[in-house]
Amino acid sequence: MIQFEDRFVRELPSDPNRVNTPRRVEEAAYSFVEPTPVQAPKLIIASEEMAELLGIEPRSLAEPPLLDLFSGNDVLPDMRPYAACYGGHQFGNWAGQLGDGRAIGLGEIVDREGVLQEIQIKGAGPTPYSRRADGRAVLRSTLREFICSEAMHHLGIPTTRALAFYTTGEKIPRDMFYDGRVRLEPSAIITRVAPSFLRFGSFELPRSRKDLDLLRALTDFTLRHFFPDIEAPYGPDAYRAFVLEVARRTARMISEWMRVGFIHGVMNTDNMSILGLTIDYGPYGFVEDFDPSFTPNTTDAHGRRYAFGRQPSIGAFNLACLHHALLPLLGDSLSQEEIIDAYSEAFEAEYHTMLAQKLGFFRIDGGDDHVLVENLFELLRVSEIDMTLFFRRLAMVPVEDPLRTDDRLREIFMPAYYREEALMGEAGIAALRSFLDAWAHRVRIDGMEPLTRIERMNRSNPLYIPRNYLAQEAIDALEGEGDDSKLKRLFEVLKRPYEEQRGAEEFAKRRPEWARDRAGCSMLSCSS
Ligand code: AMP
Ligand code: MG
Repeated sequence: MIQFEDRFVRELPSDPNRVNTPRRVEEAAYSFVEPTPVQAPKLIIASEEMAELLGIEPRSLAEPPLLDLFSGNDVLPDMRPYAACYGGHQFGNWAGQLGDGRAIGLGEIVDREGVLQEIQIKGAGPTPYSRRADGRAVLRSTLREFICSEAMHHLGIPTTRALAFYTTGEKIPRDMFYDGRVRLEPSAIITRVAPSFLRFGSFELPRSRKDLDLLRALTDFTLRHFFPDIEAPYGPDAYRAFVLEVARRTARMISEWMRVGFIHGVMNTDNMSILGLTIDYGPYGFVEDFDPSFTPNTTDAHGRRYAFGRQPSIGAFNLACLHHALLPLLGDSLSQEEIIDAYSEAFEAEYHTMLAQKLGFFRIDGGDDHVLVENLFELLRVSEIDMTLFFRRLAMVPVEDPLRTDDRLREIFMPAYYREEALMGEAGIAALRSFLDAWAHRVRIDGMEPLTRIERMNRSNPLYIPRNYLAQEAIDALEGEGDDSKLKRLFEVLKRPYEEQRGAEEFAKRRPEWARDRAGCSMLSCSS
């Protein structure tokens, strides 16, 4: 049986009130709370890889005792489940206390590599932080989190992981578009895993209440366990090193999002991991027809605060919030200007390295390269080209070969064009050719060995990404006919996103026309 550790609850102050009702919780990092049992838990899918890392036999997740444990129907004697207390800036405004309203931490497990991993079940019932909501999660959002968090891991992007996805046999009311049309939807639970689920908002809340003891306890806990390179005893210089490291990790994470066209959708500070992991998969999406102003989150359709192209600057805003939260510990060891500069510099370096890899260059070098990149993004946007398919196909273009006839170019790139007419006409092909000529010229200057270059490009340009419409097809099949085959197939394909897989052509296509304006495919609400 699993041995749970309880480092988080042992080392941090708890809420003395054990009654599970919504309330303000002060001077505590969490509240003890038990999951609410569900009617008929059923394992839909597990991540075998994650199970093995945790030393769990994957099949055992489908039966008691693990089935009961991970669906909230049982608690072991050595477990002390809890909901964390945190706050956050939502859409730019301070929202006060939020906390785990439906996620419950079960404890930590030492994985095969000796790393303590926190196990959390999301959708496990109400907690003191549920406010007016029910503590549950719908099947559709749970499936989406399961599929995408594992896919992001296989894409090589820092993320929380998923261990298992259970349905509960229960239905919950949801108003998907906030238009008064309430529907009963199946509920589900995801077992998710990360060394820590602490967020920027975990630090902002005690600071907003001038609770320096809690702020210091949380920060020192974080340093002790997750930032071993920073040496105790902790003082302003240690806290400075910490915030700078969080800035670097955040820069790397967001640059990686930009690489694969990922849009988080709700980059509130309560959804920003202190470890620089992608966390809280909600109304996320992937850029398909390239558009920096695209957001899959209908709740954000007006302001577009969290649109694809804004993510890097939102990272800076969020770091300013974190910096402000830690000011009492930092003293004058780190100014806001310094942290924003450090973040911007780290982001730029990551972003340029990333672009160079995508394009097959050694590095992004000077003004001409910037113009080339600008021109490419403009071409992708104006001609409505699928970002993922375009980059993948770029590696197929022979740079020396003069045989790049119009027909050959169409053959290579047509599958990436959302309006095929755009590539049929003279102007369209000329625009594409003009970029390709500049790109090929640049590739020849570097003189990288072609096979090396192509291999390098293919390692950073995935062929398979969890497009929203693919997840939606898996949801429809599971909700409609109880058919899990689409989900399982999608999950398998996404395990090797950079490798062309025979028989997986369906998963490497641009979004079909029916999915353009369909709920769940290009528009998602926060209702989950
Ligand atoms: P999110 O936008 O999903 O990050 O959620 C923001 C806040 O609302 C967090 O404190 C969540 O725990 C809480 N929350 C979201 N959905 C629910 C729900 N169904 N029941 C309870 N709390 C929820
Ligand atoms: Mg959240």
